[in-house]
Amino acid sequence: MHPFALSRADDPTKAIAAHAQDPQLAFIAGGTDLIGLMKDRAQLPERLLDINGLPDMARIEALPDGGLRIGALARMSDVAAHPDVRRGFPVIAEGLLFAASGQLRNMASMGGNIMQRTRCAYFRDEDDRPCNKRRPGSGCAALHGLNRNHAIFGWSDACVATNPSDVAVALAALDATVVVRGPAGERAIPFADFHRLPGDTPERDNVLGRGDLIVSIDVPACAEGRASHYLKIRDRQSYEFALVSAAAAVATDGRRIRSVRLALGGVAHKPWRLHAAEAALREVSLDDSHCLKGAIATSFTEARPLAHNAFKVWQSPRPSRTPARSPTMPSKSSWPSALHCARCRQREHAHECHRTTDVTLRWAAQGDRRRALHGGYSARRRDARRDRFQHHRERPDGVDRDFHRRKGAGRAGGVHPSKHAAHESDAKALEPPSSARAVVSAASG
Ligand SMILES: Cc1cc2nc3c(=O)[nH]c(=O)nc-3n(C[C@H](O)[C@H](O)[C@H](O)COP(=O)(O)OP(=O)(O)OC[C@H]3O[C@@H](n4cnc5c(N)ncnc54)[C@H](O)[C@@H]3O)c2cc1C
Ligand code: SF4
Repeated sequence: MHPFALSRADDPTKAIAAHAQDPQLAFIAGGTDLIGLMKDRAQLPERLLDINGLPDMARIEALPDGGLRIGALARMSDVAAHPDVRRGFPVIAEGLLFAASGQLRNMASMGGNIMQRTRCAYFRDEDDRPCNKRRPGSGCAALHGLNRNHAIFGWSDACVATNPSDVAVALAALDATVVVRGPAGERAIPFADFHRLPGDTPERDNVLGRGDLIVSIDVPACAEGRASHYLKIRDRQSYEFALVSAAAAVATDGRRIRSVRLALGGVAHKPWRLHAAEAALREVSLDDSHCLKGAIATSFTEARPLAHNAFKVWQSPRPSRTPARSPTMPSKSSWPSALHCARCRQREHAHECHRTTDVTLRWAAQGDRRRALHGGYSARRRDARRDRFQHHRERPDGVDRDFHRRKGAGRAGGVHPSKHAAHESDAKALEPPSSARAVVSAASG
């Protein structure tokens, strides 16, 4: 572990001055990210200044206009459990509860959360791989390396990392502001401007400078806040960072969208607002899923997926009668206009066992004539399937308990009832004939 000196701050002005003057000093709150970075040798400050003793920075207050002020030292679990947060801005509570683990949330602060650094494996790798964020000018190992977790929006050749914070996505959707006190006084930074895109200087995650201390995060009142939700897609269901996440807040008139706020996580160096989709979604009915999906797709026209993360790009919905395209699928112009049955020579639409869909024509164009003419299954296979399902339907509760019991007794003994008779006759066939049995017993007796 990198050696460091620890001191405690009790006065914000002195803490800000110390940070501004000493480039080797870092603020520490919960320490859940900073200590990990120091263990990975990605950040090596010589002095840590513990800011947990600073007054009035852990409060969570409702503002008179219906907004919310969340102190930078408020713990993630306290914010998630606060009634004003849960009632007015459920997306914040959900974003927090989907993050990290219970123990981490009890320790981690809101200021530290929005300051946490990327989870790019090359950045956190002790082996010191090329990484412009860790060592400016050394290159970006992820650009042509493993980039499944990386950005699809706003990246540069210098860095393709994503921002890992969940609650930052919710705060971006709600147009929060970050209140910062620095050597020149206090200022409010709109959340959209707080995190940076990497450009040529990916070592800088946000716009804070030396001596800047986050005091609070202010969330303005908004009509959409109450009907808000956070969705997180990850490789396992707990204790994992987002592959992609979404914060959505909606105000409606009946079943029509009046206004909506959307932001994505796990797709860029900063939380990514979907402004084009927000505009396209106005006045759309909540019941028109085709239109909803199409409107969201308008924000993905500028997506630039990398080698391993094209799955993050939202696909615009296809017209319902067009079959799914695959790289091996022939173009529609090459599909035959009609098929003739190999047996009866009738045109395919006249033959009752044939399908007349585009899919049939696609199979034909791909050379799968048997499947095209017979709807995918031969008559013999179709009858066999029907008999198999019939067998289950005949049972009173629809479940063949005996089959499961026999199967559970050991794989060797498990025989499906439909095969049972055949199995028994096979066993009989293997038995020696009775005359041979008599010879064997006479010889042994
Ligand atoms: C195993 C694990 C899983 C995790 N999973 C998730 C997850 O799924 N989603 C998610 O969002 N997060 C996740 N996290 C990250 C976690 O939420 C952050 O580590 C935590 O929020 C950081 O807060 P902290 O108070 O511990 O910050 P610290 O580690 O103390 O500080 C982090 C950084 O913020 C700076 N800082 C802190 N407070 C201030 C301030 N007031 N002003 C200016 N600078 C400040 C520090 O100088 C430091 O650079 C995970 C972390 C771990 C270890
Ligand atoms: S994506 Fe960014 S953080 Fe990851 S290796 Fe490249 S420069 Fe480093």
